[in-house]
Parts: sequence; structure tokens; C-alpha cells
Amino acid sequence: MENWVDKDLKYIWHPCSQMKDYEELSPIVIDHGEGVYLYDTDGKKYIDVISSWWCNLLGHCNPAISNALKEQADTLEHVIFANFTHKPAIRLAERLSKILPKGLCKFNFTDNGSSAIEAAMKVSFQYHEQTGNPQKTKFMALSDAYHGETIGALSVGDCDLYTKLYKPILMDIVRIEGPDCYRCPYGKCRDNCDCECAKKAEQIFAQYGNETAALLVEPLLQGSAGMKIYPPLYLRKLRELCDKYNVHLLADEIATGYGRTGKMFAFEHAGVSPDIMCLSKGLTGGYMPMAIFATTQKIYDAFYDDYNTGKAFMHSHTYSGNPMACSCANAVLDLMEDGKILKRAQENAVYFNNMIKDKFLSHKNVGEVRHIGLINAIEIVKNKDTKEAFDGKLRLGYQIYRKALKKGVILRPLGDVIYFNPPLIMEREDMNYATDVAKECMQEVLG
Ligand SMILES: *Cc1c(COP(=O)(O)O)cnc(C)c1O
Repeated sequence: MENWVDKDLKYIWHPCSQMKDYEELSPIVIDHGEGVYLYDTDGKKYIDVISSWWCNLLGHCNPAISNALKEQADTLEHVIFANFTHKPAIRLAERLSKILPKGLCKFNFTDNGSSAIEAAMKVSFQYHEQTGNPQKTKFMALSDAYHGETIGALSVGDCDLYTKLYKPILMDIVRIEGPDCYRCPYGKCRDNCDCECAKKAEQIFAQYGNETAALLVEPLLQGSAGMKIYPPLYLRKLRELCDKYNVHLLADEIATGYGRTGKMFAFEHAGVSPDIMCLSKGLTGGYMPMAIFATTQKIYDAFYDDYNTGKAFMHSHTYSGNPMACSCANAVLDLMEDGKILKRAQENAVYFNNMIKDKFLSHKNVGEVRHIGLINAIEIVKNKDTKEAFDGKLRLGYQIYRKALKKGVILRPLGDVIYFNPPLIMEREDMNYATDVAKECMQEVLG
């Protein structure tokens, strides 16, 4: 019998991993998936409560999406997307234009989230350059932001774990101290504050607004920062500032889009529209790598002119608009169109959050349980009163993760934040099991 683990370790360099850790915890060889479950080559079952890095939306091997993909593969697998087009992409763009926040009506395709972010940044800069504001060369982003890992996307991010080492080769970004609702410096709480923290943004805009092309923001949920959640009012305040200073509001909905926050897109909670929105992860249901940035007619028009004016957006990715990915994305919209999946997820979200609060809040090391949509995060702290964190070197989250894996639950905490971000179709029995396991493992590690 082949030893897949040995061969894996011989050849493969896994993402976001210290490979030496694999000496003690070898890679799990997944054989197949079905619904919210993954099965390894020994037949052991795992509940995928993190949606395989937040992208699986409607279950593994969802028959409708799988069929759409198979049909597309037999019809047209790929075609150059400059001067050529195809029905799956056209259909997808038309449908998105009807469900995205108002005004987003032009679509550009890339093949991963980081690339969509960078393409959107380029478009924003070029727009200002072509509309008489060449001084707008800066980008703003929030503290603790995450926008991807390529050098440009990493620059706008602010999670030390990923960025710190690379600072010498990153772009300079104007950083806005963003909301930190659990440790609010104004002593407020996120359900009834006036977003006093937006004053920080006001100050930064006053200083740099005129030189800034765009402000990037993860709406309502800063995922990689540890599922930090802030109120919609903050987005409305940013919208006002962006309008005042002619700065594009660039929404990174790569993680929050597609129902993760209880609405189809997080910006809907705020009732305002961004100028540019990036989508990926849930876009294809977790089937194919694809990302999109959507933007307004106004931005599009600034690029529309005779060829020799040099105003075109000369940006491309080889796999732009891949038909198989577009077909998966259309299949996802087919499944979500009537709103039933989202409605059920919203009902389950209330149940799930209450269950998690019941099971975890009383623990001596649980600082906060926060949630938006089906996403729930449990922040573990050393001291509940002072909110002091544990020493990161203890790797408590990682220890809990390892224990939960043994019991068939994939948790993969962010530092000391244990979170659940399940496929929208996860049902209550699995929520029960996954939270029981998480609690047991937490108690084994923390007492
Ligand atoms: C995952 C993610 C990205 C990057 O997407 P990739 O496809 O991994 O490059 C960017 N922004 C947010 C908010 C994300 O969650």
C-alpha cells in the first residue's frame, strides 16, 4: 500500500504551516467529501466547521454544482477572455448586477482573492490618475486588516503574523486605527455605540484624504484578525468620509460575501454601497478558484476612450473568467436564488449562537463570544476581567485544534480565537456535536 503521508512530506510544502509541526501532526489525507463532512483514507469522518478555509458554502460535492461543473467541462473548459466571451460569464455578471449593492454593475475577473484586491487597487489609482487627480497615490486600510498574501495585498493587510517579516518589501499604507469592539478604548459596546472610533478615521482623512485613492475595508467582520466584528454604522461613517474626500470605498467581501453575515453581502447591513467590491471564496461554492471585482459605471467610464489615449485597464490574468468557475458560480446562485438556504441559515444562526453562549460563556477563560450570521468566535483570554491574552507561544488554540481533530472536528483557530464558520447548510445536530467537542477540548487544554 502506498504511504501517502510520507510521500506528501517528501514533496509538498503546505500553505501557512511550519512544516516541522508535521512531524508530530502529519497531514490528514482526505479521500472524499459529502455535505459538511470530509472523510480521510481510513474512512474517518470530520465535520468541516470552517468550510475548508471559508470557501465551501453549500456542502462538499454538492450534486447541483458538481453537475454544472461536469457539463461545463464537456462543453468549454476555457477560452481567452480578451475579445472572446461565453455565456456562463455573461449570465453570472448579469445576475450579480441584480443582487449586489446598488451601483455595482461592471465585472472584472481574476482567479484568487489577493489578485482581485490588487486589480481593484490598480483600477482605483488609475481612475484618479485619469480624472485629474494624479496626486491620489496612497491607500488606506484598517488596523488588523487582512486582504491576502501577495505583496500588494499583504501591504494593505496588518496582521503581524503574515506581514511583519516582509515590511521592508511592502508598500507604505496609511493605517487607520479601526474598531476594536471587545477591547473598546471608549468603553462602549458594539450593540449601542455611536462608533466613537470613527473619529480616528476622520483625523486620518483630514491628513491624507486628498492624496488617497481608496480605503480598503473588510465590512463588519475582520476575519483573519480573529473574527473581529464591528457595527454597520462604522461603514456608513466611512462612506461619508470617502464621499467628502473623493476616496473610493473598496469593500473586501471575499470572506463576508455570500450569506456569511446573514445577508447576501455584508454591506447590505449598512444600507450603503461601496465603489468597488471584491468577491471570491463563496463565489464558486468552494469549487473553483475565481474572484471578481465589481465596480460602478462611473469608474468604468473613466477608462472608456479611443485606444491611443492609453486609458484602458491593461490588466489580465490568464484564467480570467474561466467558464468552469463561472458555471459553478451560476449553480451557487441557482441554489440560493429563492432565499430558502439563507433563511434557514439565519434561523440556525440564532440557535447556534445561543448554544455557544450557553456552552462557553461561563468558562473562566472565555473573554467573549461574538457572532454574525453563522460565524461564531470564542476569544480565549488569560484574564476575563482585564481581557489580557495568553502568551502566543503557548499555542493554546493550536492545542485545542489538535485535540478536536482526533474527535473529528476541524476547528483551526486563529491564535486563541476558536471559531465556527460552517457551510450555510450545516444543521443543528452537527452544530451540537461540533460545539460539544470544542468545549471538551477546550477544557482538556485549559482546565
Ligand atoms: C481569503 C481572503 C483574501 C485573499 O483571498 P485569496 O484567494 O486567499 O488570495 C482577501 N481578503 C479576505 C477578507 C479574505 O478572507
